[in-house]
Formats: sequence, C-alpha cells, structure tokens
Amino acid sequence: MTTTSRTDLWENLTAFSNPIPSDVAGAMQALGVDVLKEVSAGDSTEYLARCPAHADRKASFSVNSVTGLHHCFACGYGGPFIQLVEDALGYARVEAFQWIARRGVFRLFDDEPPAASAEPEERVTEAALALFEPPPAAALESRGLTATACAAYGVLWKPESKHWILPIRDPDTGELWGWQEKGKRFFRNWPAGVFKSRTLFGDLTWRGKAALLLESPLDAVRAHALGIEGAFASFGAHVSEAQMRLLKTRCTTLVLGLDNDPAGLTSRDRLYARWRPRGLPMRFLDYSGTAAKDLGDMSEEAARSAYACAHYPWRRR
Ligand SMILES: [Zn+2]
Repeated sequence: MTTTSRTDLWENLTAFSNPIPSDVAGAMQALGVDVLKEVSAGDSTEYLARCPAHADRKASFSVNSVTGLHHCFACGYGGPFIQLVEDALGYARVEAFQWIARRGVFRLFDDEPPAASAEPEERVTEAALALFEPPPAAALESRGLTATACAAYGVLWKPESKHWILPIRDPDTGELWGWQEKGKRFFRNWPAGVFKSRTLFGDLTWRGKAALLLESPLDAVRAHALGIEGAFASFGAHVSEAQMRLLKTRCTTLVLGLDNDPAGLTSRDRLYARWRPRGLPMRFLDYSGTAAKDLGDMSEEAARSAYACAHYPWRRR
C-alpha cells in the first residue's frame, strides 16, 4: 500500500497527465469495460471491448497496453487512460489519478505519449500548418461554408489530397496540439492520440449567452457561416467532462446539437441528465421533420430553423 501526499499528487498531476495502470486489462474490467479480444502488435497489446460511450454491438473500442490510449472507431471517443477513468466513474482528474495510483502505476507519460502506431514521431509546431492553404471556393461551396468562417475557425486545406485540416488547440493557451484531417472517405487525427477530448473545436476565447455544441468541426464552421455564434465541436458523439466544463464556463445556456443518430441522441440525453443538475440550462437542436444526420446535412433554411426552434426536452413529447 503506497500513500501519496497531496503535494506529490499535485506535482504528479502537473508533470504527468497520462498515468497508466500496471494491469490495463484488469483496470478496464474494474471500470466495467470487459475485454473481448486481445491483439498483440510488436511490444504492445490492443485490448478490444465494446465501446462504453455508445451502444456498441461490436468491439469497436480498443485500449493500448503500453500507451494507455483508447479509441473507438465507431463514435470517435478516445483519449488518455485517465480520461476513461474520469468518464467511467464520474471522477474529477485528481480522483481518477488516485484511482490509478491505487492500482499501481505502470508508467507515467507526459502530454506526448509515444504514438501507438508505427508512424514516426513528429513534433507539432505552428510552422507545420504552413504546408496547408485556405480552402478553395469550390470546396467551401460544397459544404455551405464561407472563407470568413473558415478563417475564424482556422480551417485549412491540404491541396494534394483535397482534405480539410481542422486544428486542435490547447483551450487555455491556444497552443497547437495537432489537427484532424478529413476527406470524403478519409479521417485521421494527427498526431495519433492527440488529446482532442480535453479541448473543443471553436473560438475558445468566445464568451456569450448561448453556445451550440456539435460533433463535427465542419458543422461548427457551417453554423458560424450561418450567423450562429458560439458554435463548438466535440470531435465526436462522446463529450468528455473536460469539454463540458469548458462549455459551462463560456455560456449561460447550451444548445446540444449532437448528431441525429443513436450515438448522438444517447449522448445528448446523457449530457442533459448529468449537467442539468449542475446548473447548466440546455436546449436540444430541433431535428423534428428532418432526416438529416447533422447540421451539415441540412439546407441553410432548415439549419437556421433547427437552431431557432431548439427546445427544452420536456416539449418534445
Ligand atoms: Zn464508441
């Protein structure tokens, strides 16, 4: 039995943000995430399980034994191991750290754990964005975006592959952590394991009355282009505690505009149940009368109306 003094704990917390338990599979089990399959890759093992963040019939979710990074291929939920502990147990960062410490810490990584993939390590610097350009007019038009909205959200374009580049930044300092690269049938986060669940896509200096939360970064840009202010994206159906805290300090009411699909609607209801009692009024984007999956799928008029008619949950039925 080890004891950690409060000072040590805080020092560890500031120095290391991704403590990994000695027995990753055992810790998953203890969090209610049963390992269904193990796949060895080099020196590490991927533990496959049903995703805890959405109604997952397959084992879409995996946790790496060495990096502790987890990721769901279906809904995009993912992050460092400590995030999984926070989300599964409803813990704050300190409690989650203690929970892992009690199980025996195998290894501590700082904010840049080695990439789980074989890709070479690369430091992310602002200069890396110089490879990209402002999105061309035809691409903007195909998505109902404007050059002004893209500039406001820092959206760029990779001309050789025709992919969108969506920067992921530190919510406090604005420092570049990486980006999401998105094409027609292409999607990746760079670097692998970038901690997107600790930040939001959007103007993090914004403060105002109503914020709008969407899943996809490009939908947030679309909302901005439509004149809706305070639009943020969570990078997926799963919205972390850290992301909700960022929203709560920036607005007085939140419009939940997660996708109109089972993962998005389940997440929306869960967020309402969890955060309404914590004093954050929330309304739901109005998807009635539309089969659109998200704001990006809607006509300009339908998108405006879905936002204007955002409703409190009890008006639904
Ligand atoms: Zn998932």
